[in-house]
Amino acid sequence: MTDLAQRGRAFFTSQFGYAPEGLWSAPGRVNLIGEHTDYNDGFAFPLAIGMRTAVAAGLRTDRLLRVTSESFPGVVELDFEALTPENLQGWAAYPLGVAWAMSRAAAERGPADSLPGLDLALSSDVPAGAGLSSSAALECAVALALNELWGLGLERPELARIGQLAENGVVGAPTGIMDQSASLLGEPDHGILLDCRSLQTEAVPLGFARGSLSLLVIDTRTSHSHADGGYASRRRACEAGARALGVDALRDLGPKDLPRAAAVLDPETFRRVRHVITENQRVLDTVAALQAEGPGAIGAFLDASHLSMRDDFEISTPELDLAVSSAQQLGAIGARMTGGGFGGAAIALVRDADAGTVAEGVAQAFARAGFIAPNIFPVTAAGGARREP
Ligand code: ADP
Ligand code: MG
Repeated sequence: MTDLAQRGRAFFTSQFGYAPEGLWSAPGRVNLIGEHTDYNDGFAFPLAIGMRTAVAAGLRTDRLLRVTSESFPGVVELDFEALTPENLQGWAAYPLGVAWAMSRAAAERGPADSLPGLDLALSSDVPAGAGLSSSAALECAVALALNELWGLGLERPELARIGQLAENGVVGAPTGIMDQSASLLGEPDHGILLDCRSLQTEAVPLGFARGSLSLLVIDTRTSHSHADGGYASRRRACEAGARALGVDALRDLGPKDLPRAAAVLDPETFRRVRHVITENQRVLDTVAALQAEGPGAIGAFLDASHLSMRDDFEISTPELDLAVSSAQQLGAIGARMTGGGFGGAAIALVRDADAGTVAEGVAQAFARAGFIAPNIFPVTAAGGARREP
């Protein structure tokens, strides 16, 4: 049993006074490449990481829902009859939003007014707001738990949709399907190539360890919020661009459409659209290079992705730019900001032998710039959501 599982069970028991029925966990994720492509029906290539969120759960005999988290004081209680998006606020909107979305899915299959209440206790090793998708880790752990406890038998792609519905419809963050897909479908030493239109996924071997490469996360510890205006306005720009160009989603356009896009769109919308079109291509190029030549060949795509997010999508920050440029100067194979932007983390793919130098050098560059010290750590591709023994 892992430390997290042990801690999660003990936390549940201390909060609710009885032992949980089971404990489920789901990982955070790092997106290797493919940013702001998911809600454009495009491609993304994330990996699940070793940091996980656990939910210990117990079924109740009544219809009460109680949820508590190591990260926040107190227990939030709600009766099932009051489980509507309007009644959910704060952090509890994530787990109870999943309960709401799951009960809706259950209602489509039969009467859902007999679903029993639950006690849920959350413990996590995924830092919140660091671009590692603590939100999806939470949602996917809870979704997997409820799927089993309520006996719904939903497949993992459906659980990803439920996590997304909770985040979009209850929390109010208009995020895509990438984070939940990575958290549910991740595999050790594999990236998950995700087609966000068909929802088809393919696990692609990364070979970082075999190539003596490390993937460093550089968490700038500057906060972001997906529910924030920046994310929503980028999403609106993409939708407007697709409409103006006569397609359902930017996924339907390729590099050959860029001249027409430049002629039709205003300069800012064009830059937003160009990011998505070129980023989709970079995802496919990254996977092709990985398969043909191995992980040492993907650096240029990571670097180009960062420039596109900095200059075309304009979602980077001075801290993220410094993390990327200093890692590159210190010999990284490739580096880019990762996640929704406006803060959070960057990633750098480095030779194992350079990992210490890069981490130290980036930290020094931050100190020289007067930025708060970044949190720098390696991640490896890990398995997706599971019930812990
Ligand atoms: P990210 O997903 O990048 O970490 P988000 O803003 O999408 O950042 O999600 C972070 C939010 O998710 C937190 O502010 C909190 O409301 C909720 N959250 C994440 N992990 C936990 C947890 N272990 N317990 C309670 N709430 C959590
Ligand atoms: Mg999130």
